[in-house]
Amino acid sequence: MKFGGTSVEDEAAIRRLIGIVQSRGDVQPVVVVSALAGVTDQLLEAGRAASSGRLGAALASVRDIYVRHERLADSLVGDSAYGTLDRELRADFRALESLLLQLEAAGKVDLKCQDILLGFGEVFSSKLVKEALCEAGVKAAHVDARSCIVTDAKHGQASPVWDLTNERVQAALDPLLQSGCVPVLGGFIASTETGVATTLGRGGSDFTAAIIGAALQASRVEIWTDVDGVMTTDPKLCSDARVIRKMSFDEAAELAHFGAKVLHPATLAPAMREDIPVYVLNSRNPEGSGTEILAHSDSAPRVRAITAKRNVAAVEVELPRGMDSELLSSVFAAFDQHSCPVDVMATSQHRVSLLVASPAALPSIAAELKEVAEVKWENHKALVCLVGENIRRQSEVASRVFGAVSDMEVRVMCQGASDRTISFLVEESKVEESVQRLHRLFFPKVEPARDWGGIQSAYCQAG
Ligand code: ASP
Ligand code: MG
Repeated sequence: MKFGGTSVEDEAAIRRLIGIVQSRGDVQPVVVVSALAGVTDQLLEAGRAASSGRLGAALASVRDIYVRHERLADSLVGDSAYGTLDRELRADFRALESLLLQLEAAGKVDLKCQDILLGFGEVFSSKLVKEALCEAGVKAAHVDARSCIVTDAKHGQASPVWDLTNERVQAALDPLLQSGCVPVLGGFIASTETGVATTLGRGGSDFTAAIIGAALQASRVEIWTDVDGVMTTDPKLCSDARVIRKMSFDEAAELAHFGAKVLHPATLAPAMREDIPVYVLNSRNPEGSGTEILAHSDSAPRVRAITAKRNVAAVEVELPRGMDSELLSSVFAAFDQHSCPVDVMATSQHRVSLLVASPAALPSIAAELKEVAEVKWENHKALVCLVGENIRRQSEVASRVFGAVSDMEVRVMCQGASDRTISFLVEESKVEESVQRLHRLFFPKVEPARDWGGIQSAYCQAG
Protein backbone atom coordinates (compact mmCIF):
# COMPACT_ATOMS: atom_id res chain seq x y z
CA MET A 1 0.00 0.00 0.00
CA LYS A 2 1.67 3.18 -1.16
CA PHE A 3 0.44 6.50 0.13
CA GLY A 4 1.40 9.58 -1.87
CA GLY A 5 2.26 13.01 -0.48
CA THR A 6 -1.32 14.26 -0.24
CA SER A 7 -2.34 11.06 1.52
CA VAL A 8 0.04 11.87 4.39
CA GLU A 9 -0.06 15.65 4.18
CA ASP A 10 -1.70 16.45 7.52
CA GLU A 11 -3.27 14.93 10.60
CA ALA A 12 -6.57 14.15 8.89
CA ALA A 13 -4.79 12.45 6.01
CA ILE A 14 -2.64 10.30 8.31
CA ARG A 15 -5.73 9.33 10.33
CA ARG A 16 -7.40 8.24 7.11
CA LEU A 17 -4.26 6.26 6.24
CA ILE A 18 -4.47 4.50 9.60
CA GLY A 19 -8.09 3.55 8.96
CA ILE A 20 -7.25 2.23 5.52
CA VAL A 21 -4.31 0.16 6.79
CA GLN A 22 -6.50 -1.24 9.59
CA SER A 23 -9.07 -2.27 7.00
CA ARG A 24 -6.38 -4.42 5.35
CA GLY A 25 -5.23 -5.98 8.61
CA ASP A 26 -6.01 -9.51 7.52
CA VAL A 27 -3.88 -9.50 4.36
CA GLN A 28 -0.40 -8.67 5.71
CA PRO A 29 0.01 -5.20 4.26
CA VAL A 30 3.30 -3.39 3.71
CA VAL A 31 3.09 0.41 3.85
CA VAL A 32 5.20 2.68 1.63
CA VAL A 33 4.92 6.43 2.11
CA SER A 34 5.99 9.50 0.17
CA ALA A 35 7.28 12.61 1.85
CA LEU A 36 4.49 14.89 3.14
CA ALA A 37 3.02 16.92 0.27
CA GLY A 38 5.39 19.67 -0.81
CA VAL A 39 8.37 18.57 1.29
CA THR A 40 10.52 17.20 -1.55
CA ASP A 41 10.18 20.48 -3.46
CA GLN A 42 10.98 22.43 -0.30
CA LEU A 43 14.13 20.37 0.28
CA LEU A 44 15.20 20.87 -3.30
CA GLU A 45 14.72 24.61 -2.92
CA ALA A 46 16.56 24.63 0.42
CA GLY A 47 19.53 22.96 -1.27
CA ARG A 48 19.52 25.58 -4.01
CA ALA A 49 19.29 28.35 -1.45
CA ALA A 50 22.13 27.00 0.69
CA SER A 51 24.44 26.47 -2.26
CA SER A 52 23.79 29.93 -3.64
CA GLY A 53 24.67 31.79 -0.47
CA ARG A 54 21.22 31.99 1.11
CA LEU A 55 21.89 29.68 4.02
CA GLY A 56 19.51 31.56 6.32
CA ALA A 57 16.57 30.93 4.00
CA ALA A 58 17.55 27.28 3.63
CA LEU A 59 17.73 26.73 7.38
CA ALA A 60 14.44 28.53 7.94
CA SER A 61 12.76 26.34 5.38
CA VAL A 62 13.97 23.06 6.92
CA ARG A 63 12.99 24.45 10.30
CA ASP A 64 9.43 24.77 8.93
CA ILE A 65 9.57 21.19 7.76
CA TYR A 66 10.72 20.14 11.21
CA VAL A 67 7.93 22.04 12.94
CA ARG A 68 5.35 20.52 10.61
CA HIS A 69 6.48 16.97 11.48
CA GLU A 70 6.83 17.82 15.12
CA ARG A 71 3.26 19.12 15.34
CA LEU A 72 1.96 16.03 13.62
CA ALA A 73 3.93 13.83 16.00
CA ASP A 74 2.46 15.78 18.86
CA SER A 75 -1.11 15.23 17.76
CA LEU A 76 -0.75 11.66 16.50
CA VAL A 77 1.66 10.02 18.92
CA GLY A 78 1.31 9.49 22.66
CA ASP A 79 3.75 10.72 25.29
CA SER A 80 6.19 7.86 25.64
CA ALA A 81 6.62 7.12 21.94
CA TYR A 82 6.68 10.84 21.23
CA GLY A 83 9.92 11.21 23.19
CA THR A 84 11.73 8.60 21.13
CA LEU A 85 10.33 9.84 17.81
CA ASP A 86 11.20 13.40 18.68
CA ARG A 87 14.78 12.44 19.53
CA GLU A 88 15.11 10.66 16.18
CA LEU A 89 13.58 13.49 14.21
CA ARG A 90 15.85 16.00 15.93
CA ALA A 91 18.93 13.95 15.11
CA ASP A 92 17.81 13.66 11.47
CA PHE A 93 17.20 17.40 11.30
CA ARG A 94 20.62 18.14 12.72
CA ALA A 95 22.10 15.94 9.98
CA LEU A 96 20.00 17.83 7.43
CA GLU A 97 21.21 21.16 8.74
CA SER A 98 24.82 20.11 8.57
CA LEU A 99 24.27 18.92 5.00
CA LEU A 100 23.01 22.40 4.16
CA LEU A 101 26.18 23.87 5.67
CA GLN A 102 28.24 21.59 3.44
CA LEU A 103 26.22 22.65 0.42
CA GLU A 104 26.84 26.27 1.27
CA ALA A 105 30.57 25.62 1.40
CA ALA A 106 30.52 23.62 -1.82
CA GLY A 107 28.54 26.29 -3.66
CA LYS A 108 26.67 23.64 -5.60
CA VAL A 109 24.41 20.63 -5.13
CA ASP A 110 25.62 17.62 -7.06
CA LEU A 111 23.22 14.77 -7.65
CA LYS A 112 24.87 12.63 -5.02
CA CYS A 113 24.24 15.21 -2.30
CA GLN A 114 20.82 15.92 -3.71
CA ASP A 115 19.86 12.29 -3.18
CA ILE A 116 20.80 12.54 0.50
CA LEU A 117 18.99 15.85 0.79
CA LEU A 118 15.71 14.81 -0.86
CA GLY A 119 15.69 11.47 0.92
CA PHE A 120 15.10 13.18 4.25
CA GLY A 121 11.46 13.78 3.28
CA GLU A 122 10.72 10.06 3.14
CA VAL A 123 12.86 9.33 6.19
CA PHE A 124 10.76 11.77 8.25
CA SER A 125 7.38 10.73 6.90
CA SER A 126 7.99 7.01 7.29
CA LYS A 127 9.11 7.33 10.92
CA LEU A 128 6.14 9.53 11.71
CA VAL A 129 3.61 7.25 10.03
CA LYS A 130 5.07 4.17 11.71
CA GLU A 131 4.61 5.75 15.16
CA ALA A 132 1.14 7.00 14.30
CA LEU A 133 0.15 3.47 13.28
CA CYS A 134 1.55 2.01 16.50
CA GLU A 135 -0.30 4.63 18.51
CA ALA A 136 -3.53 3.51 16.83
CA GLY A 137 -2.87 -0.07 17.88
CA VAL A 138 -1.40 -1.37 14.64
CA LYS A 139 1.71 -3.45 15.20
CA ALA A 140 4.00 -1.54 12.84
CA ALA A 141 7.76 -1.59 12.31
CA HIS A 142 9.91 0.96 10.55
CA VAL A 143 12.22 -0.43 7.88
CA ASP A 144 14.82 1.82 6.28
CA ALA A 145 14.24 1.43 2.55
CA ARG A 146 17.92 2.27 2.03
CA SER A 147 18.86 -0.94 3.67
CA CYS A 148 16.88 -3.08 1.25
CA ILE A 149 16.32 -1.32 -2.08
CA VAL A 150 19.71 -1.66 -3.80
CA THR A 151 20.42 0.40 -6.91
CA ASP A 152 23.17 1.39 -9.29
CA ALA A 153 24.93 4.69 -8.64
CA LYS A 154 23.00 6.76 -11.17
CA HIS A 155 22.17 9.49 -8.70
CA GLY A 156 18.88 11.28 -9.21
CA GLN A 157 17.37 8.38 -11.13
CA ALA A 158 18.87 5.14 -9.97
CA SER A 159 17.80 1.68 -11.17
CA PRO A 160 17.37 -1.31 -8.92
CA VAL A 161 19.84 -4.15 -8.79
CA TRP A 162 17.12 -6.75 -8.86
CA ASP A 163 18.69 -9.83 -7.28
CA LEU A 164 20.09 -8.01 -4.30
CA THR A 165 16.96 -5.96 -3.85
CA ASN A 166 14.67 -8.96 -3.94
CA GLU A 167 16.88 -10.81 -1.52
CA ARG A 168 17.10 -7.96 0.95
CA VAL A 169 13.45 -7.00 0.73
CA GLN A 170 12.47 -10.57 1.47
CA ALA A 171 15.00 -10.88 4.28
CA ALA A 172 13.84 -7.65 5.91
CA LEU A 173 10.10 -7.92 5.43
CA ASP A 174 9.15 -11.60 5.45
CA PRO A 175 9.93 -12.17 9.16
CA LEU A 176 8.03 -9.02 10.10
CA LEU A 177 5.01 -10.06 8.06
CA GLN A 178 5.12 -13.53 9.55
CA SER A 179 5.08 -12.10 13.02
CA GLY A 180 1.99 -10.04 12.18
CA CYS A 181 3.85 -6.75 11.88
CA VAL A 182 3.12 -4.06 9.30
CA PRO A 183 6.42 -2.87 7.81
CA VAL A 184 6.50 0.87 7.03
CA LEU A 185 9.06 2.18 4.54
CA GLY A 186 9.81 5.47 2.87
CA GLY A 187 9.35 5.31 -0.89
CA PHE A 188 11.73 6.86 -3.41
CA ILE A 189 14.90 6.27 -1.37
CA ALA A 190 17.45 3.54 -1.87
CA SER A 191 21.17 2.99 -1.73
CA THR A 192 23.98 1.41 -3.69
CA GLU A 193 25.40 -1.92 -2.72
CA THR A 194 28.04 -0.11 -0.68
CA GLY A 195 25.45 1.98 1.13
CA VAL A 196 25.63 5.31 -0.71
CA ALA A 197 22.20 6.99 -0.69
CA THR A 198 20.35 7.16 -4.02
CA THR A 199 16.83 7.97 -5.17
CA LEU A 200 14.60 6.39 -7.79
CA GLY A 201 13.68 9.69 -9.49
CA ARG A 202 10.85 12.11 -8.79
CA GLY A 203 7.60 10.32 -8.13
CA GLY A 204 9.65 7.23 -7.30
CA SER A 205 7.54 6.01 -4.39
CA ASP A 206 5.19 4.24 -6.80
CA PHE A 207 8.26 2.42 -8.08
CA THR A 208 9.24 1.43 -4.54
CA ALA A 209 5.78 -0.04 -3.99
CA ALA A 210 5.97 -2.03 -7.21
CA ILE A 211 9.49 -3.26 -6.42
CA ILE A 212 8.42 -4.45 -2.98
CA GLY A 213 5.20 -5.96 -4.28
CA ALA A 214 7.16 -7.91 -6.87
CA ALA A 215 9.86 -9.04 -4.43
CA LEU A 216 7.23 -10.36 -2.03
CA GLN A 217 4.96 -11.78 -4.74
CA ALA A 218 2.17 -9.69 -3.24
CA SER A 219 -1.37 -10.36 -4.33
CA ARG A 220 -1.87 -6.67 -5.16
CA VAL A 221 -0.21 -3.28 -5.09
CA GLU A 222 -2.34 -0.33 -4.01
CA ILE A 223 -1.43 3.23 -4.96
CA TRP A 224 -3.38 5.53 -2.64
CA THR A 225 -3.74 9.03 -3.99
CA ASP A 226 -6.26 11.89 -3.92
CA VAL A 227 -8.39 11.08 -6.95
CA ASP A 228 -10.82 8.24 -7.51
CA GLY A 229 -8.66 6.51 -10.08
CA VAL A 230 -7.63 6.90 -13.68
CA MET A 231 -10.31 8.79 -15.58
CA THR A 232 -11.80 8.26 -19.04
CA THR A 233 -10.68 11.78 -19.89
CA ASP A 234 -9.53 14.96 -18.20
CA PRO A 235 -12.55 16.16 -16.18
CA LYS A 236 -11.47 19.72 -16.87
CA LEU A 237 -12.15 19.09 -20.54
CA CYS A 238 -15.29 17.07 -20.09
CA SER A 239 -17.39 16.97 -16.95
CA ASP A 240 -18.76 13.53 -17.85
CA ALA A 241 -15.34 11.98 -17.27
CA ARG A 242 -15.56 8.92 -15.09
CA VAL A 243 -13.31 6.42 -13.42
CA ILE A 244 -11.94 3.60 -15.52
CA ARG A 245 -12.63 0.39 -13.66
CA LYS A 246 -10.07 -1.79 -15.36
CA MET A 247 -7.32 -1.19 -17.85
CA SER A 248 -4.17 -2.79 -19.12
CA PHE A 249 -0.67 -1.70 -18.30
CA ASP A 250 -0.06 -0.86 -21.97
CA GLU A 251 -3.14 1.33 -22.06
CA ALA A 252 -1.90 3.20 -19.00
CA ALA A 253 1.46 3.66 -20.69
CA GLU A 254 -0.16 5.06 -23.84
CA LEU A 255 -2.27 7.40 -21.73
CA ALA A 256 0.80 8.76 -20.01
CA HIS A 257 2.57 9.12 -23.33
CA PHE A 258 -0.31 11.09 -24.78
CA GLY A 259 -0.46 13.61 -22.02
CA ALA A 260 -2.72 12.20 -19.31
CA LYS A 261 -1.49 12.95 -15.83
CA VAL A 262 -1.74 9.41 -14.59
CA LEU A 263 0.91 7.77 -12.51
CA HIS A 264 4.02 6.96 -14.46
CA PRO A 265 3.34 3.45 -15.72
CA ALA A 266 7.00 2.52 -16.12
CA THR A 267 7.18 2.54 -12.34
CA LEU A 268 4.62 -0.27 -12.22
CA ALA A 269 6.73 -2.53 -14.44
CA PRO A 270 8.04 -4.78 -11.64
CA ALA A 271 4.48 -5.56 -10.53
CA MET A 272 3.36 -6.14 -14.10
CA ARG A 273 6.26 -8.49 -14.71
CA GLU A 274 5.03 -10.64 -11.86
CA ASP A 275 1.43 -10.33 -13.00
CA ILE A 276 0.44 -8.45 -9.86
CA PRO A 277 -2.54 -6.12 -10.34
CA VAL A 278 -2.10 -2.49 -9.33
CA TYR A 279 -5.01 -0.45 -7.96
CA VAL A 280 -5.20 3.33 -8.03
CA LEU A 281 -7.36 4.34 -5.07
CA ASN A 282 -8.52 7.52 -3.38
CA SER A 283 -7.52 7.89 0.26
CA ARG A 284 -10.25 10.54 0.63
CA ASN A 285 -12.84 8.09 -0.63
CA PRO A 286 -11.56 4.65 0.36
CA GLU A 287 -14.87 2.96 -0.43
CA GLY A 288 -14.49 3.66 -4.16
CA SER A 289 -13.37 0.76 -6.31
CA GLY A 290 -10.63 2.76 -8.04
CA THR A 291 -8.88 1.65 -11.19
CA GLU A 292 -7.40 -1.79 -11.59
CA ILE A 293 -4.35 -1.97 -13.84
CA LEU A 294 -3.54 -5.42 -15.15
CA ALA A 295 -0.51 -6.75 -16.93
CA HIS A 296 -2.65 -8.20 -19.67
CA SER A 297 -5.88 -7.00 -21.08
CA ASP A 298 -8.72 -9.37 -20.53
CA SER A 299 -11.43 -7.64 -22.45
CA ALA A 300 -12.71 -7.09 -25.94
CA PRO A 301 -11.28 -4.12 -27.82
CA ARG A 302 -12.86 -0.89 -26.70
CA VAL A 303 -12.01 2.74 -26.29
CA ARG A 304 -10.68 3.06 -22.77
CA ALA A 305 -9.86 6.72 -22.55
CA ILE A 306 -9.48 9.93 -24.50
CA THR A 307 -6.57 12.27 -23.96
CA ALA A 308 -5.56 15.60 -25.37
CA LYS A 309 -2.09 17.02 -25.53
CA ARG A 310 -2.02 20.76 -26.03
CA ASN A 311 0.67 23.10 -27.24
CA VAL A 312 1.75 20.68 -29.92
CA ALA A 313 3.60 22.08 -32.92
CA ALA A 314 3.16 20.45 -36.32
CA VAL A 315 6.52 20.50 -38.05
CA GLU A 316 7.24 19.94 -41.72
CA VAL A 317 10.78 19.28 -42.76
CA GLU A 318 11.20 19.78 -46.52
CA LEU A 319 14.15 17.97 -48.06
CA PRO A 320 14.74 19.56 -51.46
CA ARG A 321 17.37 17.00 -52.40
CA GLY A 322 15.09 14.16 -51.46
CA MET A 323 15.32 11.67 -48.67
CA ASP A 324 18.26 9.50 -47.85
CA SER A 325 19.02 7.73 -44.66
CA GLU A 326 22.00 9.88 -43.76
CA LEU A 327 19.95 13.02 -44.17
CA LEU A 328 17.12 11.58 -42.16
CA SER A 329 19.46 10.72 -39.33
CA SER A 330 20.93 14.21 -39.29
CA VAL A 331 17.40 15.61 -39.05
CA PHE A 332 16.67 13.43 -36.04
CA ALA A 333 20.06 14.17 -34.53
CA ALA A 334 19.24 17.88 -34.64
CA PHE A 335 15.97 17.34 -32.76
CA ASP A 336 17.79 15.12 -30.33
CA GLN A 337 20.59 17.57 -29.66
CA HIS A 338 18.10 20.27 -28.81
CA SER A 339 16.25 17.91 -26.45
CA CYS A 340 13.14 18.19 -28.57
CA PRO A 341 11.38 14.83 -28.41
CA VAL A 342 9.46 13.93 -31.53
CA ASP A 343 6.00 12.48 -31.13
CA VAL A 344 4.58 11.06 -34.28
CA MET A 345 5.81 11.21 -37.78
CA ALA A 346 5.19 10.46 -41.38
CA THR A 347 7.66 10.57 -44.24
CA SER A 348 7.45 10.94 -47.98
CA GLN A 349 10.05 11.43 -50.68
CA HIS A 350 10.70 15.10 -49.93
CA ARG A 351 9.12 15.68 -46.61
CA VAL A 352 9.09 14.54 -42.97
CA SER A 353 6.11 15.48 -40.80
CA LEU A 354 6.68 15.60 -37.10
CA LEU A 355 4.85 16.59 -33.98
CA VAL A 356 6.71 18.06 -31.08
CA ALA A 357 5.44 18.80 -27.61
CA SER A 358 7.01 22.22 -27.39
CA PRO A 359 8.02 24.64 -30.15
CA ALA A 360 10.75 26.26 -28.03
CA ALA A 361 13.71 24.59 -29.72
CA LEU A 362 12.40 24.80 -33.29
CA PRO A 363 14.10 28.05 -34.33
CA SER A 364 17.52 26.66 -33.37
CA ILE A 365 16.79 23.36 -35.07
CA ALA A 366 15.70 25.18 -38.24
CA ALA A 367 18.89 27.23 -38.18
CA GLU A 368 21.03 24.17 -37.74
CA LEU A 369 19.41 22.29 -40.60
CA LYS A 370 19.15 25.20 -42.98
CA GLU A 371 21.80 23.86 -45.39
CA VAL A 372 19.92 20.62 -46.00
CA ALA A 373 16.30 21.20 -45.13
CA GLU A 374 13.65 23.79 -44.66
CA VAL A 375 11.88 23.49 -41.32
CA LYS A 376 8.42 25.03 -41.03
CA TRP A 377 5.93 24.69 -38.24
CA GLU A 378 2.53 25.67 -36.96
CA ASN A 379 1.88 26.19 -33.27
CA HIS A 380 -1.27 25.88 -31.19
CA LYS A 381 -2.27 22.46 -32.31
CA ALA A 382 -3.56 19.77 -30.04
CA LEU A 383 -3.27 16.04 -30.37
CA VAL A 384 -6.44 14.21 -29.43
CA CYS A 385 -5.88 10.55 -28.80
CA LEU A 386 -8.15 7.59 -28.17
CA VAL A 387 -6.57 4.75 -26.26
CA GLY A 388 -7.73 1.16 -26.00
CA GLU A 389 -6.41 -2.32 -26.66
CA ASN A 390 -6.66 -3.24 -30.33
CA ILE A 391 -8.79 -0.27 -31.30
CA ARG A 392 -6.78 0.34 -34.43
CA ARG A 393 -7.80 -3.07 -35.69
CA GLN A 394 -11.44 -2.14 -35.37
CA SER A 395 -12.11 -0.14 -38.47
CA GLU A 396 -15.46 1.08 -37.20
CA VAL A 397 -13.78 2.90 -34.32
CA ALA A 398 -11.82 5.09 -36.72
CA SER A 399 -14.87 5.78 -38.86
CA ARG A 400 -16.94 6.72 -35.81
CA VAL A 401 -14.16 9.03 -34.64
CA PHE A 402 -13.91 10.84 -37.91
CA GLY A 403 -17.66 10.94 -38.27
CA ALA A 404 -17.90 12.71 -34.94
CA VAL A 405 -15.46 15.44 -35.90
CA SER A 406 -16.18 15.56 -39.63
CA ASP A 407 -17.13 19.23 -39.52
CA MET A 408 -13.87 20.21 -37.84
CA GLU A 409 -10.59 20.72 -39.51
CA VAL A 410 -8.86 17.51 -38.58
CA ARG A 411 -5.33 17.75 -39.84
CA VAL A 412 -3.39 14.59 -39.53
CA MET A 413 -4.36 11.19 -38.47
CA CYS A 414 -1.40 9.88 -36.63
CA GLN A 415 -0.16 6.39 -37.02
CA GLY A 416 0.98 5.36 -33.59
CA ALA A 417 3.32 2.43 -33.46
CA SER A 418 0.81 0.37 -31.54
CA ASP A 419 -2.67 -0.95 -32.12
CA ARG A 420 -3.81 0.89 -29.04
CA THR A 421 -4.14 4.45 -30.23
CA ILE A 422 -5.95 6.53 -32.79
CA SER A 423 -4.98 10.16 -32.77
CA PHE A 424 -5.49 13.28 -34.79
CA LEU A 425 -4.51 16.90 -34.77
CA VAL A 426 -6.93 19.77 -34.22
CA GLU A 427 -6.66 23.47 -33.51
CA GLU A 428 -6.09 23.97 -29.80
CA SER A 429 -9.33 25.94 -29.62
CA LYS A 430 -11.24 22.82 -30.67
CA VAL A 431 -9.90 20.49 -28.02
CA GLU A 432 -12.79 20.67 -25.60
CA GLU A 433 -15.44 20.26 -28.21
CA SER A 434 -13.77 17.34 -29.91
CA VAL A 435 -13.05 15.54 -26.65
CA GLN A 436 -16.62 16.09 -25.47
CA ARG A 437 -18.11 14.75 -28.68
CA LEU A 438 -15.91 11.67 -28.61
CA HIS A 439 -16.59 11.08 -24.95
CA ARG A 440 -20.34 11.23 -25.56
CA LEU A 441 -19.92 8.78 -28.40
CA PHE A 442 -17.74 6.20 -26.68
CA PHE A 443 -18.88 6.70 -23.09
CA PRO A 444 -22.57 7.36 -23.32
CA LYS A 445 -24.18 8.23 -20.03
CA VAL A 446 -25.52 5.24 -18.16
CA GLU A 447 -27.94 5.01 -15.30
CA PRO A 448 -25.84 5.25 -12.13
CA ALA A 449 -27.65 2.34 -10.52
CA ARG A 450 -26.77 0.02 -13.36
CA ASP A 451 -23.12 0.45 -14.17
CA TRP A 452 -21.57 2.96 -11.88
CA GLY A 453 -23.24 2.35 -8.56
CA GLY A 454 -20.95 2.83 -5.63
CA ILE A 455 -18.58 5.20 -7.34
CA GLN A 456 -18.76 8.73 -6.10
CA SER A 457 -18.26 10.61 -9.29
CA ALA A 458 -14.75 11.93 -9.28
CA TYR A 459 -14.78 15.08 -11.28
CA CYS A 460 -11.21 15.76 -10.53
CA GLN A 461 -8.11 15.07 -12.44
CA ALA A 462 -6.33 11.78 -12.37
CA GLY A 463 -2.82 12.47 -11.19
N1 ASP B 1 8.70 12.52 -2.59
C1 ASP B 1 9.21 12.16 -3.90
C2 ASP B 1 8.77 13.19 -4.92
O1 ASP B 1 8.12 14.15 -4.57
C3 ASP B 1 8.84 10.80 -4.31
C4 ASP B 1 7.35 10.52 -4.40
O2 ASP B 1 6.57 11.23 -3.80
O3 ASP B 1 6.97 9.58 -5.10
O4 ASP B 1 9.11 13.08 -6.06
MG1 MG C 1 3.41 10.55 -7.20
